[in-house]
Amino acid sequence: MAKTLPKRDVVIMGLGWTGSILAQELTQAGLRVVAIERGPWRDTATDFNIAYMQDELRYAIRKDLFLKPSVEAMTMRNDVSQTALPMRDYGSFLPGNGVGGAGVHWNGYTWRYYPSDFECKSHHIKRYGAKKIADLQLQDWGVTFDEIEHCYDRFEYLCGTSGKAGVIKGQVQPGGNPFEGSRSRDYPTPPLTMPYSSTLFAEAARNLGLHPFPAPSSNLSQAYINPLGVRIGQCTYCGFCERFGCGNYSKASAQTTILPVLMRNPNFELRTDSEVLKINLHPDGKTAKSVTYIDDAGTECEQPADIVLLCGYGLMNVRMMFLSGIGQPYDPKTGKGVVGRNYCYQTGGGGAQMIFDDKKFNPFVGAGALSTSAHDFNADAFDHSNLDFVGGATIGSGESNGRPITNRPTPPGTPRWGSKWKDATAKTYGRVMGIGGSGSSYPIRGNYLDLDPTYTDRHGRPLLRITFDFPDNDIRMQQWVSKQCEKIARTLNPKILTVGAVRKDWNSVPYGTTHNTGGAVMGADPATSAVNKYLQSWDVSNVFSVGASAFPQNAAQNPTGTVGMLAYWTAEAIRDRYMKAPGRLM
Ligand SMILES: Cc1cc2nc3c(=O)[nH]c(=O)nc-3n(C[C@H](O)[C@H](O)[C@H](O)COP(=O)(O)OP(=O)(O)OC[C@H]3O[C@@H](n4cnc5c(N)ncnc54)[C@H](O)[C@@H]3O)c2cc1C
Ligand code: SF4
Repeated sequence: MAKTLPKRDVVIMGLGWTGSILAQELTQAGLRVVAIERGPWRDTATDFNIAYMQDELRYAIRKDLFLKPSVEAMTMRNDVSQTALPMRDYGSFLPGNGVGGAGVHWNGYTWRYYPSDFECKSHHIKRYGAKKIADLQLQDWGVTFDEIEHCYDRFEYLCGTSGKAGVIKGQVQPGGNPFEGSRSRDYPTPPLTMPYSSTLFAEAARNLGLHPFPAPSSNLSQAYINPLGVRIGQCTYCGFCERFGCGNYSKASAQTTILPVLMRNPNFELRTDSEVLKINLHPDGKTAKSVTYIDDAGTECEQPADIVLLCGYGLMNVRMMFLSGIGQPYDPKTGKGVVGRNYCYQTGGGGAQMIFDDKKFNPFVGAGALSTSAHDFNADAFDHSNLDFVGGATIGSGESNGRPITNRPTPPGTPRWGSKWKDATAKTYGRVMGIGGSGSSYPIRGNYLDLDPTYTDRHGRPLLRITFDFPDNDIRMQQWVSKQCEKIARTLNPKILTVGAVRKDWNSVPYGTTHNTGGAVMGADPATSAVNKYLQSWDVSNVFSVGASAFPQNAAQNPTGTVGMLAYWTAEAIRDRYMKAPGRLM
């Protein structure tokens, strides 16, 4: 029998990006908040120490900071005709584990989505007609960009994001992204200093009439004190960023932006090494009364609360809704049901790799989000009327790292081991530049999440099953964008130019991105969304599911700017609306 603990106002599952933002906002509003985090406590001085953080084998290859499948695995298949099998190791994406979540070891790209992304379905129908998107299950978000712009601003100023605005109060700014939605002010800090490869890309893109600009980065170009009074350091371009914690206090994360303040707040309590197993509902099923979790001593506890916030990363939020019976599960045969619906990922592949004899790059001078980008082929910045797809991709070039194990480019045809391989890696190191990016991922009826009928976790609960393959629309899009990358690359006259293949058959082994979206999407219609525009469950009114699970489809840009924005948006809704009149907000 579970040990019942004293009631709190709010219980949060997971203390990563979204959990920390909501805990900070709601404790500030006077609520007593407890966060239950599955992984360990983590802090910069004790866990990302600069003396040992550059251990590539430990962190990048053996993935020391990530979720282990022995704690929670998932099963995967490409379509319903296949039997899903468990992932024995996380590869394609790498969920976080521990305080700070995946925000500890992210790269730091901090994008906004476009106004048209939030009205994806209606925008496309208006511009191209319904037939153009007939194969896709596109949906509007239920909010507009103008409604939520101030929440993007709050996340960027929390992080100290380094960038150059493209449009401020309707005025296009030289050097920024002219396609972005109008913002209220510039980024809090100026862009990072760009490396040689990014500068070459910018010149080549500009010569072709494109609009390159420095990608917004939460690896900070200069020291910054955020609105909570927390000081973030200047990035040293150390190159041990993605997959590593930052030992230099320069990458925005919960640790470097919020926790120094939150942990001192007497309204806040954190329980680490504790895993939420279930949300318990009142008998009418319309509200939650508590969560059940296993604490660090292995004791089963029940934590009652007035509000339950799912902040466990999108995929885990969806699984928790299934396990707790919140919302009707999605059925791909009928297209009915909402939990599990519109699972999307990020379309990758393609892009151009160049090897030069006459150019030398210093890839070891890098940072997680150091690149020049161009969005001329992104979203609906270009006319799709005569193209056989919708959506688009960011393209760009930058240096994230020159690490000794993983950064060993070789020309095509080089053996994969032995003295020839050694010679080739020595000659090619520092001579390579790439142009590529990430593409939008649009929903189709057959891509979805549910509970696996066979495989269970260490507590005997069904694993999450992912049924996904890249839709034809997205493959055509990425092939087309790859050709644009090739055109830019040719103008740089490399000695060797290779263009990557764009393929179907998603598989869980090679790394793609940790940008899993959908499954508990937001919207204005309870028939097609699991949560409303405030990320409140339509069915269980005191449960909010916060994260990329709420995205009805995925845009090309990395998600966390939008995830952080939604956390502020939800906090605002709870503070200004729900607390005044608890119950359904819509
Ligand atoms: C290598 C890598 C690079 C990335 N780079 C970028 C980038 O450049 N730009 C970008 O936009 N995004 C990037 N991302 C994605 C980004 O990290 C995530 O979007 C972001 O962290 C999501 O925030 P979240 O709060 O939803 O989840 P997280 O930050 O992951 O936090 C979720 C927390 O919940 C905990 N949890 C889960 N289940 C339970 C449970 N049952 N009980 C208790 N606790 C639980 C987890 O342990 C975790 O700490 C990257 C991710 C990775 C892995
Ligand atoms: S590149 Fe910069 S932000 Fe990233 S880990 Fe190194 S110092 Fe930190």
